[in-house]
Amino acid sequence: MASDGAANGSNTISVAVIGAGPAGYYTAEALTKTDTDVRVDIIDRLPTPFGLIRAGVAPDHQSIKNVSRRYEATNQRENVRFVGNLSLGRDITLTELRDIYDAVVLATGAAKDRPLGIDGEDLEGVIGSGPFVGWYNAHPDYKGLNPDLRVASVAVIGNGNVAVDVARILAKTAGEMAETDLADHAAKSIHGSPIRDIYIIGRRGPLEASFTPKELGELNQLENCVALVAGEQLPSEEIDDMMTGAQRKNMAALRQMAENDQTSKPVRLHIKFFLRPMAILGDECVCGLRLEETKVEDGKCVGTGKTEVLPAGLVVPCIGYRTSPIPDVPYDERYGCFENEDGLIEPRLYCVGWAKRGPTGTIGTNKPDGAEVAKRILEEIRPAGRPGRAGLDALIKERDLRIVTFQDWKKIEASEEALAEGGAPRRKHTDISEMVKIAES
Ligand code: NAP
Repeated sequence: MASDGAANGSNTISVAVIGAGPAGYYTAEALTKTDTDVRVDIIDRLPTPFGLIRAGVAPDHQSIKNVSRRYEATNQRENVRFVGNLSLGRDITLTELRDIYDAVVLATGAAKDRPLGIDGEDLEGVIGSGPFVGWYNAHPDYKGLNPDLRVASVAVIGNGNVAVDVARILAKTAGEMAETDLADHAAKSIHGSPIRDIYIIGRRGPLEASFTPKELGELNQLENCVALVAGEQLPSEEIDDMMTGAQRKNMAALRQMAENDQTSKPVRLHIKFFLRPMAILGDECVCGLRLEETKVEDGKCVGTGKTEVLPAGLVVPCIGYRTSPIPDVPYDERYGCFENEDGLIEPRLYCVGWAKRGPTGTIGTNKPDGAEVAKRILEEIRPAGRPGRAGLDALIKERDLRIVTFQDWKKIEASEEALAEGGAPRRKHTDISEMVKIAES
């Protein structure tokens, strides 16, 4: 087997990117499109590539998922390789990877939920957006989550796009979800559920909300569910001139909600601002939330001391994520990501995407982010005799690991597409050993 690095006279820089999501693929793309001789292995613990595109982007947002075609094109390059079903920590250590490759890039995203830090958070029926979104998106880790949706009302905490996604997926009918890749187990549970009231709860006001106009506007287009907001919570039209374009568009959608007739559809989606969760109530299972009314002063949320109780049989906090720490990698507790300076953690160890900047921005934000870190790697790293790809292959052989290649993944993808019915783009497999079996077939 050939080595990548200078040891055998080659000038190839070998890079391992850990995480096959958007940040990892944009970094690989930028690393391999210059004249520099670089080989990139994109390593993922799952047998499937594309990270959040597959398991984070909502199943009814298929057009966003189309960006995976671009990552697929990156993967067609001879110097880019997908190595699936290889888990950092379980199958290989970071130290081993750093010995094998000239540079290692952590593109591991932010898979852990940020905690609310209030009483009742551990009650049954409180499910963070990480597991909940993973569950409806058929992520193998959450296929058995089985949330009890035999409830009348659900509280979704947070005013970001994830909160809007969760509320919308709970509100859409089977017909509206027919041409999506919603997991079968989630479809069964959601579409058989008696949910009548969904609450989206923001601790600040409509001007501070971080959801985007397109996503908010979709809540006014639901077949069976009417979106509602109390008109008195919205700012006067007199200050429209002082708003950003996005705020103005959000206000237009919210003003429509303030006019909507709450009896017009069987399910109601209430957006409630200026309320912060104080405690989640219940004995073993959640039965509601204690909320404190707030006001916004200098952009900050300030409690008024006035509280209310909101009944809810399910609480889904959608309040942001944190990167999972990796032993011996410096971690920034404040931002929930690796401690880094413009992507550099320490010599030859880099991070990109949410693992670098925290869980902010859209899929597209990762493109310039990945390009900047790639540029830095190409400036800073010189081939130094490390074995690169051949070294990883030797270790995989020695440990008898069953990795999944991109060609293997295409078999899994074909099987998912063949199983799809009724206009759905695919029916996702959720079982890793089943996927590996398909790859071996
Ligand atoms: P986000 O946009 O940061 O929203 C988090 C929300 O949680 C904020 O409203 C925040 O309120 C609230 N929050 C935080 N801590 C809280 C607490 N202790 N109690 C009550 N509320 C709390 O995060 P996200 O919704 O998880 O989205 C992550 C990123 O993915 C965002 O950049 C988002 O735009 C992107 N995304 C995009 C799409 C899309 O384009 N379709 C879909 C999903 C996600 P404060 O503002 O007061 O802190």
